[in-house]
Order: sequence, then structure tokens, then C-alpha cells
Amino acid sequence: MHAGSLSRYRYRRKGCFRDPHDSFEDTVAENIRPQVRPAAEGWEQAKDETGRPRLQFAEPRRTQPPKHLADFAAAARGEFVAQHGVPAFRAKQLSTHYFSHFTSDPADMTDLPAQGRDELVAHALPPLLTEVKRLHTDNGDTIKFLWRLFDGALVESVLMRYPGRITLCVSSQAGCGMNCPFCATGQAGLTRNMSSAEIIDQIVRANQAIARGELGGKKVGNSPERVSNIVFMGMGEPLANYNRLMHAVRTMVAPAPMGLGMSARNITVSTVGLVPAMQKLAAEEIPVTLALSLHAPDDGLRDELIPVNSRWKVDEALDAAKAYFDATGRRVSIEYALIKDMNDHAWRADLLGKKLNDRGRGWVHVNPIPLNPTPGSIWTASTGPVTREFIDRLESAGIPTTLRDTRGKEIDGACGQLAAAD
Ligand code: SF4
Repeated sequence: MHAGSLSRYRYRRKGCFRDPHDSFEDTVAENIRPQVRPAAEGWEQAKDETGRPRLQFAEPRRTQPPKHLADFAAAARGEFVAQHGVPAFRAKQLSTHYFSHFTSDPADMTDLPAQGRDELVAHALPPLLTEVKRLHTDNGDTIKFLWRLFDGALVESVLMRYPGRITLCVSSQAGCGMNCPFCATGQAGLTRNMSSAEIIDQIVRANQAIARGELGGKKVGNSPERVSNIVFMGMGEPLANYNRLMHAVRTMVAPAPMGLGMSARNITVSTVGLVPAMQKLAAEEIPVTLALSLHAPDDGLRDELIPVNSRWKVDEALDAAKAYFDATGRRVSIEYALIKDMNDHAWRADLLGKKLNDRGRGWVHVNPIPLNPTPGSIWTASTGPVTREFIDRLESAGIPTTLRDTRGKEIDGACGQLAAAD
């Protein structure tokens, strides 16, 4: 950060977006910064009858995967296994194997009677994810999994080791109906919602890989490791699959052996701003972290960048984010991918800071996300100085701001690209 530039930005902030003391050169420099408009590259965005990007909330393919133990709340699992003619207490044994030992292999379940064991396990823990491909970084601390679901749909998850935590980025839908012009996942629209068990199984399979020593990087201590943090930033808009998402979250936080025993605070649910669902989430009394993928503070740009903005505007999404903080005490994350000459202008940093501060202090932090440089594409990285200036302006407005790590990009782009390439 340049001290000189920081003081200049502070000055500007007082005058909102333009300060009378700005030099003529400053004004000219800012005015000549081009405005690149969002557009799909190499594919055509589906449009509705009014010519706007089509939004798809209902899933076209309604065939659901076989029912799995993880689709049921703990209290209902006894009845589920009893359908198979075994006593209800077997549900607890099966839950222990699945949620604590991360296995669906009958050969590991010697506490179950040998007779009928294979059939019982096939009924209660049917295979949900078939591993199609796995990519990893050179030192193995990041693994990207591509999974095939029972109906052939492809989804992915990314497992990342950080000092003191292991994070899994999970998918919540096959495809996505939000039609963002920059996103590989949205190109083919929404295939279907994932079931709760399909969401959970991504974690169980990642835990299995960790237990087998397949995740590289430096391990801390000798105790067994498992996924500690979940981010719903894989394929899909999680809040568009609300009920199954919430069931999966409840199973994640349920104590062992009936759930994964994770901390709600370590679960981040991201959204492009489905306001009614954000309001519903605030009333759940499960203090997950909410991340709002904002990417623009002005409706003029956001309408094009995030088509769902045509339903719920920037101010409505920010109001819902603040209400989430008020209800849960959990600081909200604002995700902001910095895209060269599209959304990285200094005035946008100022406007974002102002809109956040207008709603109070201490309730939010901003994560600018650096893109990969993509020569010739409009979806390319902001320059270093522009990135720095954007962050400086937010910080000088008093907004905690952390440039996000983009682990996993080196092995295959952003969310959805592995599935799109297959
Ligand atoms: S960016 Fe997210 S919400 Fe938008 S289409 Fe892609 S997966 Fe869906």
C-alpha cells in the first residue's frame, strides 16, 4: 500500500465518489478508464421472452437418487432401516460406520450380522458418487474431484489443506439456473438439485481420502484429520436448493455418530442474493457463515453480471445480508471477483464501502477475489495497482478486506470448469 495514495483515497471518500480537491489529472485518469460490459464468451446465454438472461428456479429433471441414510433425520432412520426388516437400532450402527468411519463397505461392518449385511448396506448406504477424475496440485495439498451422480450428471468438489484447517468446497446442484455470463456451470442451465445425501457424501468421500493419506501438504500433529470447513462454492446456487441444503447442514452439525459433528461456524453458504431464502436462513438458528457474491455495488452493472439482480437488487441483497448478521451475530462475507475494467473502478470500491457503512459497522468483511490473467478475454484479472487501490479504498472506509486465496485455480479454473470440460 502506498501511503500517499491511501491519503488521497481517504480524501475522496469524504466526498463520496469525487472530491473537489482531486487533481484534474486524477479526474481525467478515472474518466478514461474504460467500462467493459459483461458478455458470455464462446457460448450464448439463454434469454427469456423479454430478452433478459433466463433464470431457472425449478429443476427440469426430477428423478432423484436412491434414498440414503443421510437423507433422513436421526429420528427417522430407524424406520428407514426397518423397511428392510431389521431392528431400528441398526440405524445407529450404520450411522457410525458412515459418519464416523467414512465407510459404506459392508466388509468393514463386522458388528452387523453377516447374513443379509450386503443387502442392508445396499439399501441404507447406496453408492451416490462415482469418482470420474481427480486432479491435484504438485504437492498434493489440493485435490479436485469430479463425481458422476446416479443419473450421469457431473459435479465436483475441491479439497484444500491450509495451516490448521482442511476445507472442502462442495456442490449443491448439478448445473445451475442462475445463468451468470462468466460461469461454466451456468452455461447448460440447471440439471437438477442434489439430494442432501449427495451433498453429504462429498464430505464423507473427502474424509475417506484424507484417512487414506491421499491429501498432501504438511500435517499438524498426529491425530486423525478430517474436513473441518465447508464452503458451498462449488456448482450450483445453494439457496435455490434450500430444503435439501438445510437438511445437509443439519446433518453436518449433528453430533457423532448421527452426524458429522462439524461446527456451523465453519460452514459457509454462498449465494448470489436470493433474498427470500437469505431471510429464511436468518431464521434457522444455525449460525453458518453467509457469503454474498456481490461482484458489483451498482445495479447498472450487476443486472448484467448477476442476472438474478433483476429480481433482487443490490440494496435488497445487502439489507438481507445485514439482517442475517443482526439475527445470527455472524459477520457476513461479501465476495467480489476483481475483473479488469469491468467492476474494479475506484468509484465502485467507494460505492461499495459507502453502501456497507450505511448499514452499520462491524457486520461485514469484503473478500476481493483475484482472477487468473486471461489474455484476450474480457474476464481477466485486474492489474496489481488497481487491485491494491480497490482494497486500499475499502480499508480506508473502515471495511475489513482480505484478498482471497484462489487455491485450486492452478489445477482447473473456477467452479464448474472440470465438469464442463469432461
Ligand atoms: S456463478 Fe454460481 S450462481 Fe452464477 S451460474 Fe455459476 S454456479 Fe450459478
